[in-house]
Amino acid sequence: MKIETKCIQSGYSPANGEPRVIPIVQSTTYKYDSTQTMGDLFDLKESGCFYTRLANPTVGYVEEKIADLEGGVGAMMTSSGQAANLITILNICHSGDSIISASTIYGGTFNLFGVTLKKLGIECIFVDAELPLDELQKFVKPNTKAIFGETLSNPSLDVLDIEKFAQLAHSNNIPLVIDNTFPTPFLCNPFEYGADIIIHSTSKYMDGHATALGGVIVDSGKFDWTSGKFPEFTEPDESYHGVVYTESFGKAAFITKARVQMMRDLGSTPAPMNAFLLNLGLETLHLRMERHCQNAQKVAEFLENNPKIAWVNYPGLKSSKYHDLASKYLPKGCSGVISFGVAGGKAAAIKFMDSLKMAAIVCHVADARTSVLHPASSTHRQLTDEQLVECGVSPDLIRMSVGIENVDDIIADITQALACVD
Ligand SMILES: *Cc1c(COP(=O)(O)O)cnc(C)c1O
Repeated sequence: MKIETKCIQSGYSPANGEPRVIPIVQSTTYKYDSTQTMGDLFDLKESGCFYTRLANPTVGYVEEKIADLEGGVGAMMTSSGQAANLITILNICHSGDSIISASTIYGGTFNLFGVTLKKLGIECIFVDAELPLDELQKFVKPNTKAIFGETLSNPSLDVLDIEKFAQLAHSNNIPLVIDNTFPTPFLCNPFEYGADIIIHSTSKYMDGHATALGGVIVDSGKFDWTSGKFPEFTEPDESYHGVVYTESFGKAAFITKARVQMMRDLGSTPAPMNAFLLNLGLETLHLRMERHCQNAQKVAEFLENNPKIAWVNYPGLKSSKYHDLASKYLPKGCSGVISFGVAGGKAAAIKFMDSLKMAAIVCHVADARTSVLHPASSTHRQLTDEQLVECGVSPDLIRMSVGIENVDDIIADITQALACVD
């Protein structure tokens, strides 16, 4: 099946007489006829739901759809994108380990890696993703256990050279983790370029309507955990009756451990209702992403030719330094988020934003409605000026999430707001 068909058909196929649309199984628990079956479930000898913290049918259907969209061996949904990132790193690393991350990443992830993981004894080395391979290699240490980057970074919109990062990771027997939130599986499939684990904040385009927070982790099944670097995968897990993940679960070792160990212990479980809402969004993902890309491209070109605009950043523009990487990794379009500066700096940015009539100021991106945000005074306000530069956020940066309204109406709103800026 092609990806458009998978968006609609994958994950759930009802048997004769069953509901056509995935049912919302609003139950924490499941009934079994014998203690033996229950015991086998706990021993992971049988598959089935026994408690919704670990598995739920509604969530399971959507996990299967997303695994299929990315081409992975399995997926696990989480209560938010933050939880997906946290679980992914804790599933690989423990106190004393180190990870390498591109420095231009989502502000929340930057904090998680730089502050909270540090408190847990996991060091994150932030690197300039533009550096050549031999320079990047210098940051790899014997305790480096994961390499991380965003396909299209939020909010700086840098396009990551995934193949370069994959080469860095694999030549050192380290897995590459890619946050593919902004492109979604419709615009880019990082597994094709060597990513081992993909995570998403499904709160963005995958849901697409700003209704439900969520995250997902997808396992390619391709990474070899048996090099000796990852004993938690190859030695008995005492908390699971001595199970050895690589032996019992083969290609699904990572995603199984994430569920039965990490989700069991951390409990950042998605609600069945949220999985249902996410699935509704996924059914139109292909249509929405096409329109987001078209509209954003037109708005970016309009802004670039407007004298009141100081600069525009959108990888779909020929002027973008990421245009070549975008042609390679995002051939169908560069998603719906653009950033720009209004001539006159921060004060002009604020006047412009407050003058918009249709586009709303919201702390969110990537849903059907056009919206704007000033990261330096909102999502990134906890960062120092130095850190702001490091994450690619200038003080005058406006992030616009271009929605799927008629693009002429979006441009008309921008035009009248610019007229209010002098
Ligand atoms: C929003 C976002 C996150 C965090 O996801 P939540 O669902 O808000 O927890 C992580 N990565 C990227 C790229 C994001 O845009």
